[in-house]
Amino acid sequence: MSHSIERQILKGSPPGTQRELVLHRFGPAEADARAYIQASLHADEVPAMLVAQHLLELLKAADAQAAIKGRITVVPYANPLGLSQFVNGVHLGRYNLPGGGNYNRLWPDLYDLIRDELRGRLGPDANTNKQLIRQAMKQAVTTLQVHSELEHLKQLLAREACDADLVLDLHCDDDALMHLYLTPEHWPAGTDLAADLECRAVLLASDSGGGSFDEAFSTPWPRLADAFPEHPIPRDACFSATVELRGQADVDDTLAAEDARALYRELQRRGLVAGLPSPAKALQCEATALEACELAKSPASGILSYRKNLGERVAKGDVIADLVDPSHYGDTASRQEIRASTDGVLLTRRLHKYVRAGDNLAKIVGTEPLPERTGLLLED
Ligand SMILES: [Zn+2]
Repeated sequence: MSHSIERQILKGSPPGTQRELVLHRFGPAEADARAYIQASLHADEVPAMLVAQHLLELLKAADAQAAIKGRITVVPYANPLGLSQFVNGVHLGRYNLPGGGNYNRLWPDLYDLIRDELRGRLGPDANTNKQLIRQAMKQAVTTLQVHSELEHLKQLLAREACDADLVLDLHCDDDALMHLYLTPEHWPAGTDLAADLECRAVLLASDSGGGSFDEAFSTPWPRLADAFPEHPIPRDACFSATVELRGQADVDDTLAAEDARALYRELQRRGLVAGLPSPAKALQCEATALEACELAKSPASGILSYRKNLGERVAKGDVIADLVDPSHYGDTASRQEIRASTDGVLLTRRLHKYVRAGDNLAKIVGTEPLPERTGLLLED
């Protein structure tokens, strides 16, 4: 049995308080193949924590049969800070309330941190270069300046992910269908995972502009390969994905057990767990550019009433929702139609139906890049 549990106490907690991160380790510590899976970095995205519980059960069963071949680390709650953020009884886990912003933004730029020190050290062998780069990444993360609980949390999580071949960051959207965020280097390699999860969208971006957790570990590789073209560097050395496990209200043991089995089969496909997985299900979507995914925003404050359901195909100009202004009644200002700006599939909606001007109302997965989708491609 290889399963062990490690507990890390966060530094920088206020007097009288203490936060703990729990890491479950499976498989040989020095195995070449490594996977890192964490749940609910956005602490209010609860489906991820339930999926992690089911995945731990599967891994414990595999471990009992000596079937774990690679090193697998699972963090079943990645954000103990966010788990305690209740305001007037409402759990708010997306932003660090003391002032650190969105938990899934501004992760360290490992490319920037290690590029200069790699000069003159890379050689002609891709695998040797990969190991050298991973060591440099680990060292860079270890030497990050850490003052606050949030900085320590980020350091601990990044240290686990930076030398993994497979990084799965488990999230969910507001009210949504299953989808994945990937970098283009990992498509079509992610096809089986997307099929197994029954994804309804796979959104590709080489840099979504937000410094998200998944991109912190995948994007340095193609950037380093471009910076050092005279040395072989695998562009796809870290398959890192954000898995959006539907919406916040989709917390259900049956769904979570199925999702965990899909993640488990990916670990099998990659040789981290023994046993040939059953064939992947049929893929339900094509991968599309994140620039082609419309983020529909509210033009004003008001009450949302959707006319389209999740998964419905819409055409440009179709009314997807009405926005009702409760300060008017019986005049043209009382109701506005919200129209799609692209042809596509309605992937997400808003769970809570009272919105402010500028709030995101929906994501519509189109195929044609939209001119306004530049810079930060993610919602805040
Ligand atoms: Zn999230």
